[in-house]
Amino acid sequence: MPHAFHVLVKPAGAVCNLACRYCYFLSKADLYPGSRFRMPDGVLETYVRQLLEAQAGREVFVAWQGGEPTLMGLSFFRRSIELVEQHRKAGTDVRYTIQTNGVLLDDEWCEFFREHRFLVGLSLDGPRALHDVYRVDKHGRGTFDAVVHAARLLQHHRVDVNILACVHAASGDHPIDVYRFLRDEVGARFIQFIPIVERAAAGEAHNGEAATAWSVRPAQWAGFLTAIFDEWVRRDVGVVFVQQFDAALASWTGVSPGVCVLMETCGDAVALEHNGDLYCCDHFVDREYLLGNILQTPMPQLVASDRLRAFGDAKRDALPQYCRQCRVRFACRGECPKNRFVKTPDGEPGLNYLCEGYKAFFAHVGRPMRMMADLLRHDRAPAEIMWRLRREDEELRAAVRTAGRNQPCPCGSGRKVKQCHGR
Ligand code: SF4
Ligand code: SF4
Ligand code: SF4
Repeated sequence: MPHAFHVLVKPAGAVCNLACRYCYFLSKADLYPGSRFRMPDGVLETYVRQLLEAQAGREVFVAWQGGEPTLMGLSFFRRSIELVEQHRKAGTDVRYTIQTNGVLLDDEWCEFFREHRFLVGLSLDGPRALHDVYRVDKHGRGTFDAVVHAARLLQHHRVDVNILACVHAASGDHPIDVYRFLRDEVGARFIQFIPIVERAAAGEAHNGEAATAWSVRPAQWAGFLTAIFDEWVRRDVGVVFVQQFDAALASWTGVSPGVCVLMETCGDAVALEHNGDLYCCDHFVDREYLLGNILQTPMPQLVASDRLRAFGDAKRDALPQYCRQCRVRFACRGECPKNRFVKTPDGEPGLNYLCEGYKAFFAHVGRPMRMMADLLRHDRAPAEIMWRLRREDEELRAAVRTAGRNQPCPCGSGRKVKQCHGR
């Protein structure tokens, strides 16, 4: 039996009140033709009971996801709390999370989240012009105002919020606009950037690319992460938490990054559909990856199955040779298998579409990551790096000021001052 496992629960299946242009969840509704997409009480009760009975650890996570889970209405979530209280073992600490587009949230929802200490993941892609490109309602209207209103309401009610910002073709070239908007205007302290990558089907390819036109390009992904990192590492360490940066630091210190896409294997986070069907992962909700139904087979048994283990191990075992020899493999680990649809330079299939982006990003952050890992090893706060880098920046600026325009740049790039920091 597994010691602990995470289940992303989709009580309304893939059904949503929005129609984001990059959404690939909506098509998953085709798996259940004729369904009302509402988790019945029997499935909810079975899930809660099996989850709480099986977990050996003190902390248990109840994680709601979609589609849009708030479509179930507050009464569904109140009932889930009732069931948790009924089945919780003494001393178990139950943590609730929910991932929402925010448009249905009001004071009542926020009070409920606050009362039960929910961590709310709110999808917001950046300032209006970047958010509204793809995040639209069923009439094609932008949802920016509704989401920002939800963010303000959640803050007003002191609910813990994690902003999930999808990075796509339109926002990929505007990292600083996105980051400063989230940090300064929304007041976000926990941010997760999610690269939109979707393999192109016939007719969706863009300029001969393997991915759809709305997917973030590998070079954009590199530029996006590095630009934000450079700002973050000089002024926001310990104040703003960016999931990718925390995960990278974990890899540099030799501990688990805690983010499935950057871990060696998959299989620790299964997805539960509204009718009790359990899948290997939320990104693989497909007949081929169906483990079984929890009404027929207890969830711990499905989670402990060879099938799920094989799915999880395939992430590591299917890595192409190119990745096995990669210098940043310890941090990247080939990222998510769903994005591995291009070939390596020597023609081996199974390379991650974002490879170029990850390679550049992890190479760029190597030195500061080593510095922060070193601070941690000496029981010092990683935030100290900010003062060190700022001092280095000042020294470099002073050296550039005194150097001739045609001399090699003091930064060591090998370029002339006028083509580098003297520009
Ligand atoms: S809110 Fe989420 S589930 Fe709904 S359409 Fe947008 S991306 Fe898809
Ligand atoms: S398939 Fe991708 S999203 Fe699913 S567990 Fe693996 S890395 Fe995570
Ligand atoms: S950076 Fe590229 S080569 Fe290296 S592990 Fe990641 S996907 Fe593989």
